[in-house]
Amino acid sequence: MTTAHGNGSHPATQLVHGGTLRSQFGEMSEAIFLTQSYAYDTMESAEARFKGEAPGFIYARYGNPTVAMFEKRMALLEGAEAARATASGMAAITAALMGQVRAGDHVVAARALFGSCLYVVEDLLPRFGVATTLVDGENPNAWRAAMRPNTKTCFIETPTNPNLGLVDIAAVATIAHEHGATLVVDNVFASPMLQHPLQLGADCVVYSTTKHVDGQGRCLGGVILASEAFINTHIHNYLRQTGPALSPFNAWVMLKGMETLALRVDRQSANAAALADMLAEHPCVTKVLYPGRADHPQAELARRQMKGGGTLVAFEVAGGKPAAFAMANALEVVKISNNLGDAKSMITHPATTTHQRLTPQARATLGISDGMLRLSCGIEDERDLIHDFLQAFERAAHLLAAE
Ligand SMILES: *Cc1c(COP(=O)(O)O)cnc(C)c1O
Repeated sequence: MTTAHGNGSHPATQLVHGGTLRSQFGEMSEAIFLTQSYAYDTMESAEARFKGEAPGFIYARYGNPTVAMFEKRMALLEGAEAARATASGMAAITAALMGQVRAGDHVVAARALFGSCLYVVEDLLPRFGVATTLVDGENPNAWRAAMRPNTKTCFIETPTNPNLGLVDIAAVATIAHEHGATLVVDNVFASPMLQHPLQLGADCVVYSTTKHVDGQGRCLGGVILASEAFINTHIHNYLRQTGPALSPFNAWVMLKGMETLALRVDRQSANAAALADMLAEHPCVTKVLYPGRADHPQAELARRQMKGGGTLVAFEVAGGKPAAFAMANALEVVKISNNLGDAKSMITHPATTTHQRLTPQARATLGISDGMLRLSCGIEDERDLIHDFLQAFERAAHLLAAE
């Protein structure tokens, strides 16, 4: 097994070549090593590997060549010293938080979080004696006020789900560091192509690679990216001993997904920008939230910390839930699904799906109205997507006019 050179220094090249390991067969496409364990030449070499004195794999829960290629490629893309792959995005987030804390510690997180992340922060951590505070992530004073001497880590997602609010990564990183805490950023919505939290001061970046990295709706996966020191102190043993390992097959799917990641995110972002503009002009749409538009409430922050507006658009139709349902049901090309980052465009109604568990008041606090829809743009032809929406609005016109 040899490490290929020629990773390149630009993302488009790294996405195709980064981290490749080649066996004695010189295979061009990365191999899938479906193996649980490894054979040693001698007892002495097994001893040396276990002692960490010789390089090499020991057991698939600790490491696997296909998984290692994926980790290396993600680390290069993110500009991180170290990466650890996990079986899902939630496995990555749970490890990134649980790996850092013990009973008596405190965690501050933004209130606008992916539902399962909210469960980890609000329900799981407190069960083990870790206090948590949820804040309005967009308000720096709220962060400052929430910090305590025992605050170990801060956790944010930006842009947020579903209505694409932004958290100022550099500002929260500064506040966290002033109080001796770390900052973990769930960077799923921006994707690794459009936002680099480590460069903005974050200590750890987590992805659900289920989303843009696979990008074709096949496998679950996750990854944790940070400095060697952060990974070694907080993550390495936690993952090895608790075992949320990424399957080598899924790692291979992710590697193949990465080859087209830049192309896909470019096209998805262009489609999202075009659809956001079309929706903003449509008489049945009362609100459009897209970080790439000048009318986004945090447009200036978007320009500062993101390289583009992203692949998702949130919008609100007049006529509430009946109108939102009728319009989405009339879509033909765009599919109804709560997933995101896929090559196929998908639409979801957060109030009745991803955020139905929340009370109406909690939804109102997060700005999730009954007429709100979240669109994840795929790589289809922009003209077909626009046509699809226009015909759907027409077919739902009787309800859309109701407000
Ligand atoms: C999907 C998602 C997750 C969870 O990832 P899984 O791979 O489904 O476990 C976490 N955060 C965000 C923002 C997501 O979109």
